[in-house]
Amino acid sequence: MSETILSGLKLKGEELFEESLRPLSLDEFIGQEKIKKNLSVFIKAAKGRKQVLDHVLFSGPPGLGKTTLAFIIAREMGAVMKVISGPAVEKPGDLAAVLTNLDEKGILFIDEIHRLHPAIEEILYSAMEDFRLDIIVGQGPGAKTVKISLKPFTLIGATTRAGLITPPLHGRFGIILRMDYYDVESLKKITERTARILNIKISEESAYEIGKRARGTPRVANRLVKRIRDFVEVEGKNSIELEETLKALKVMDVDEYGLEEMDRRILQVVIENFNGGPVGIKSLASSIGEDKGTLEDLYEPFLVQSGFLIRTGRGRVATKKAYQHLGYKFDKTFQGNLFNE
Ligand code: ADP
Repeated sequence: MSETILSGLKLKGEELFEESLRPLSLDEFIGQEKIKKNLSVFIKAAKGRKQVLDHVLFSGPPGLGKTTLAFIIAREMGAVMKVISGPAVEKPGDLAAVLTNLDEKGILFIDEIHRLHPAIEEILYSAMEDFRLDIIVGQGPGAKTVKISLKPFTLIGATTRAGLITPPLHGRFGIILRMDYYDVESLKKITERTARILNIKISEESAYEIGKRARGTPRVANRLVKRIRDFVEVEGKNSIELEETLKALKVMDVDEYGLEEMDRRILQVVIENFNGGPVGIKSLASSIGEDKGTLEDLYEPFLVQSGFLIRTGRGRVATKKAYQHLGYKFDKTFQGNLFNE
């Protein structure tokens, strides 16, 4: 039996909703076929050898299922998993305490691992490599290193920014898995599964439409289903049909590409305030009044992936598709040379 500890996390509202929707096994997990196939081989092999699974690093935009897969690994390995978040660890001692308290063959999940403080991250090096903690006690010439053995464990790291993982940490992960946006078909299936769990009927066209507008992201698909269900229920109906779906998406301001108000605002600012770009991420963030990290992690990858924005050496540039989608005239002479960089 596996047991999962959400250390220090109190779940409420939206988080509780997310928990209730987490697939519990690889079979139940929709999409990301290559990752699932690889993971099932690695899990089977580790179990066959009666060893812990190699350390795993998941990278990819938020809401794609990194945490979910970590829970699934724990369950399939029959391991107890502790969950911590990189920026929440304040002192090296805090991480040392978590590591020494892991169960035999336990799993430690560190979300946003790229945001661990460097001095804290260093603790992980010997822990991951030799299951050992090297703790420096005292200061100056009298300081000495105390070595503490750890029980074999698996570290699962998740990051939205693979590029920010330092090489020494990156090199200590045996399994590195990059998660990509989901295709519409997978998101349609996820939408149908969510509706089933929420106990509401959904037509195939509605599930497809939601899948299409979910920004390649299961978390977004789930949020849309939940909101659309509210609209449907308020109208006294018990099935999500296309008509209500389209109406609700319009009210929620989600357009046919899945762009929401903030996405359109970003593109609009690039076009209007910066002549379509190139604009550096910092200037863009301050013009929009949004945090630079949120812009880079949450909004930009999808706008780039769906062809509305490109990243050049000199900054972000709005594409012809962005101009056309927002109803601006595209000035080819001005933009032309930028696209060839
Ligand atoms: P991340 O850790 O990458 O930010 P999560 O694992 O928290 O993403 O997933 C966000 C939400 O989407 C969760 O409610 C989860 O259950 C759901 N979800 C993610 N991937 C899938 C999937 N492949 N199938 C069904 N639901 C999924």
